[in-house]
Amino acid sequence: MKQVLVIGANFAGASAALEVKRKLKKAVEVTVIDKQENSLYFPSLIWVPIGRREVSDCLIPRKPMFDKARINFIVDTALSIDPDKQEVVAEKGKYYYDQLVVATGPKLNRDIAPGVREHACYIGSVDGALDTRAKLEEFKKNPGPIVIGATQKASCMGAAYEFLYNVEKWLRQEKIRKQVDLYWITPEPYLGHFGIDGMPLGEWYLKRFNQIFNIKYRTSAAVKEVTKNAVILDTGEIIESRFKMLMVPFTGVDLIINSPKLETPQNYFLDVKPCYQHKKYSNVWGAGLAVDVPPPFEANQVPFGVPKTGYPSDATGKIVAHNVVMALQGKTNFKEKPWGRIPALCVMDAGKKEVILIGTSLFKPRVFAIMIPNVFYDFTKVFLEKYFIWKLRHGYSFLP
Ligand SMILES: Cc1cc2nc3c(=O)[nH]c(=O)nc-3n(C[C@H](O)[C@H](O)[C@H](O)COP(=O)(O)OP(=O)(O)OC[C@H]3O[C@@H](n4cnc5c(N)ncnc54)[C@H](O)[C@@H]3O)c2cc1C
Repeated sequence: MKQVLVIGANFAGASAALEVKRKLKKAVEVTVIDKQENSLYFPSLIWVPIGRREVSDCLIPRKPMFDKARINFIVDTALSIDPDKQEVVAEKGKYYYDQLVVATGPKLNRDIAPGVREHACYIGSVDGALDTRAKLEEFKKNPGPIVIGATQKASCMGAAYEFLYNVEKWLRQEKIRKQVDLYWITPEPYLGHFGIDGMPLGEWYLKRFNQIFNIKYRTSAAVKEVTKNAVILDTGEIIESRFKMLMVPFTGVDLIINSPKLETPQNYFLDVKPCYQHKKYSNVWGAGLAVDVPPPFEANQVPFGVPKTGYPSDATGKIVAHNVVMALQGKTNFKEKPWGRIPALCVMDAGKKEVILIGTSLFKPRVFAIMIPNVFYDFTKVFLEKYFIWKLRHGYSFLP
């Protein structure tokens, strides 16, 4: 029986594995390996530091869902891939494959500037979100200036914007807002660029938000150094801060770094065709954040990357599943959809308020794009959270 091996079982990998199995049923054996037992719903991590969610609310057990789908799920860490031998070496053993899907997400670069790792919080991991919560609790006792934002070369600015407005709301709830100077720093050339050259009215909305909530900001900002009490920018400006949270750049994971035959670019993201097939090895596929997506816009004075959010991650998992099925059936009419042509669908939380982003494609040119603010409550964000967690828990990958 043909063996499909999927490494990484979050948004992209779970969709790819479930869809291959759903389409080919008993004709294929699907094995998924992931170093974590549980799926992590990243979008809710922004609420952990301010106590609106617990980590347990963001974790979904994988084994029951994969068992039900008759997919082998193994908790293991893949160490290297030998695409000539069609073999993956992992901590617990070796895995052979006919078709391999790499959906391993990112590795963080918290050493992008001196002091970032030591002095700035990071909300994009379980440990990071809990550490941020502890630091905010400490901060409450002795409030002062705050810096939130993203460093040069970062690409997940959306989550940092969300955290900014959630912290602003939290400061008011805690009745310490007046004691806090709140700063936003970003490598983007203008507010709301998001790594996709903006959305209609995006910059205008964010400027108004910052004005209403009295948030000072610096665009085209690069971090030179972070110290215990300040963030120092490349321009020499010193922004005093008693609490800092910075999104940092992503690269490909160690597994890819340790698999030189895959000949990845310097950022260690997989170099794939528009059908997500590896450029050299036809039975290796990339899905989700693990694939390389060069920015479509001119290089900026301060570099930053494109956002690789949940919707395109899931969409590429499904495209890969379709194409793996084709390949196993000896067909080559693969589905193609470059990352930037996948629709833009995202909800940005703004602290019990939200902005909904809809576009016919992530990158320009777009036939249609709109940003819809909702100042009454973050209903859509909460609805999507419930929906995606339900979908992940039950393995309903065929749903949008
Ligand atoms: C704080 C935060 C908030 C976000 N909010 C939003 C949002 O509101 N909306 C949105 O659309 N997107 C959001 N995103 C982005 C979204 O989380 C990503 O797009 C999505 O997680 C990418 O899915 P993925 O499956 O490609 O990678 P990941 O979710 O990173 O999954 C990769 C998986 O691979 C596993 N893995 C890695 N290496 C190995 C190995 N060597 N061996 C075995 N397993 C391995 C990991 O354990 C993990 O389970 C947010 C991200 C962050 C950090």
